[in-house]
Amino acid sequence: MYKVSFEDEDVVIRFKEGMIERDTLSRLLDRVNLESVLNRCKPAVAKRNAGKRSGFPYGSALLQDPVFNKGTAFTEEERDALCLRGLLPPRVHTQAEQVARVLENMRRKTSDLEKYIFLVSLQDRNKTLFYRVLIDNIEELAPIVYTPTVGQACLEYGHIFRRPRGIYLSANDRGRVADVLRNWPHKGIHIIVVTDGERILGLGDLGANGMGISVGKLALYTACAGIHPSISLPVTIDVGTENEELLNDPLYIGLRQRRLRGKPYDDLIEEFIVAAQEIFPRVLIQFEDFANSNAFRLLKEYRDVVCAFNDDIQGTAAVTLAGLLSALRITGGKLRDQRVLFLGAGEAGIGAGDLLTSALVSEGLSTEEARERCWFFDSKGLVVKSRTGLTGHKLRYSHDFECVADLLPAVEKLKPTAVIGVSGRPKLFTRPVLEAMARLNERPIVFSLSNPTSKTECTAEDAYTWTRGRAIFASGSPFDPVTVDGKTFFPAQGNNVYIFPGVGLGAIACWSRHVTDEMFYVAAKTLAGQVSWADLDQGRVFPRLTKIREVSVRIAVAVAEVAFERGLATRERPEDLERYIKSLMYDPQYDNYV
Ligand code: NAD
Repeated sequence: MYKVSFEDEDVVIRFKEGMIERDTLSRLLDRVNLESVLNRCKPAVAKRNAGKRSGFPYGSALLQDPVFNKGTAFTEEERDALCLRGLLPPRVHTQAEQVARVLENMRRKTSDLEKYIFLVSLQDRNKTLFYRVLIDNIEELAPIVYTPTVGQACLEYGHIFRRPRGIYLSANDRGRVADVLRNWPHKGIHIIVVTDGERILGLGDLGANGMGISVGKLALYTACAGIHPSISLPVTIDVGTENEELLNDPLYIGLRQRRLRGKPYDDLIEEFIVAAQEIFPRVLIQFEDFANSNAFRLLKEYRDVVCAFNDDIQGTAAVTLAGLLSALRITGGKLRDQRVLFLGAGEAGIGAGDLLTSALVSEGLSTEEARERCWFFDSKGLVVKSRTGLTGHKLRYSHDFECVADLLPAVEKLKPTAVIGVSGRPKLFTRPVLEAMARLNERPIVFSLSNPTSKTECTAEDAYTWTRGRAIFASGSPFDPVTVDGKTFFPAQGNNVYIFPGVGLGAIACWSRHVTDEMFYVAAKTLAGQVSWADLDQGRVFPRLTKIREVSVRIAVAVAEVAFERGLATRERPEDLERYIKSLMYDPQYDNYV
């Protein structure tokens, strides 16, 4: 029997002889906090305030715990100490052997959705192994864990649902949001990804099914920037849905009601923001896949009040700007000489226009001159002064030009050097549009950024074939290499996965008060700087995803530098910022528990 002092009270730990050695106990006491030791010894943990008892598992409960489970990798010593003997097959496997088994099983699945379900189940069983597999195979698995497969998963979320993850807040939780957030078992949350599910990728209103996006983004935070999974929290605010199919689906997981709008909606969001700050001080909030009408408003309202950003607006903008900067390394052109036509004037398009404008202003142009380089074409045609009913954010890009309702004549008249698809509508970059771009430019820049693959404005094959291999192409969702006239092109994925993990890591590393546009600008420049000439030669305007953790560190350092320079950081600057940031990054290796 051992007696341990805990919070001014004596706690008596008893355990069965042989189950845990005295040395083991003292080593555990050195390594982990007392509470988890107490729980680790739970077979005989005795006197504790009942309410304070929390459960570090042992025996079969440990095998069910995704955070601590190591499956067949539990060592002989751990099997003895933690009552696992007999509950596992005798052979102890290494993590590498487990990874091989996971990959073998996953690759046997016949559809990407099946692979997604398999990986999510692994995440439910053994988080360390899940992240090891994801990090070491990021190019293969990012399209499964995130776009495009996550889109399919969100469409069918209620049907493939196994275990809940994250926090679901609903319209019925008004007045008790803080209590709901307190139900989350971890207190040290530093990043929240929150959605209300109204504009999931290019798939529209998927209501509570949007949780798949918050979960997927946070998996990428961990894989791509080493954010420890225990400090992140996916949140879905279910305010209803306008999606008839979901409302009529008996297996839909959300509220069966129309969307809350107006003041009650705003009040709920505000209650969430306030409660999140109170319960998780300094938490970074990433707004994700809110519809256009709320996204801009919420960003404007909260960006200077708390530490928050909108990935669809700001993250996409940075990845687009980075792609343009890389493309100009191929063409030798200057940013100020470009005329960029955005197809789609929503969150992604306007966000990118705004960041491009900032970049041009920092190169010496006036705001007016900078905006003249950005053109928009939306569902009603070219955004021009004579159009009525333009909303605020489009107004600033409405130019003196004739009304043009179709894309092809717009391209022919405007002669853009780059077309950027962010409309969420497939196949709008038609053969005549791409051929026109190739006629007008030696190296036309064509970014087809809409997700998922089913919504892309053109495929990689379309872009390369119809420009005779001259397009500098990037897409939101991945495409296989394409060979045209004997040359093989490796299309780059212009996805904000290159940006948000590094920005988030940088912001939380220095405890930044806010996330600013300048941070996204430096992130874009840093990302573009990470593209090698070998990448560019193969047609890639972004680095390989296999380099993503390196890229994220550089972005995080650049972002944190901005925070320190601008007085936004609320902690002291470490002497070696890069080393410090690297030290924060989670590497999913198994801990030794004994
Ligand atoms: P949004 O709803 O805010 O904006 C869509 C815009 O497209 C609107 O301006 C709309 O008028 C316009 N549009 C609709 N139909 C059109 C048509 N037929 N012709 C021209 N314009 C049309 O959406 P958003 O947040 O800007 O996202 C748009 C797309 O961009 C989505 O598919 C999304 O997945 C994708 N996206 C990709 C990334 C990435 O990393 N690659 C990041 C964010 C968004």
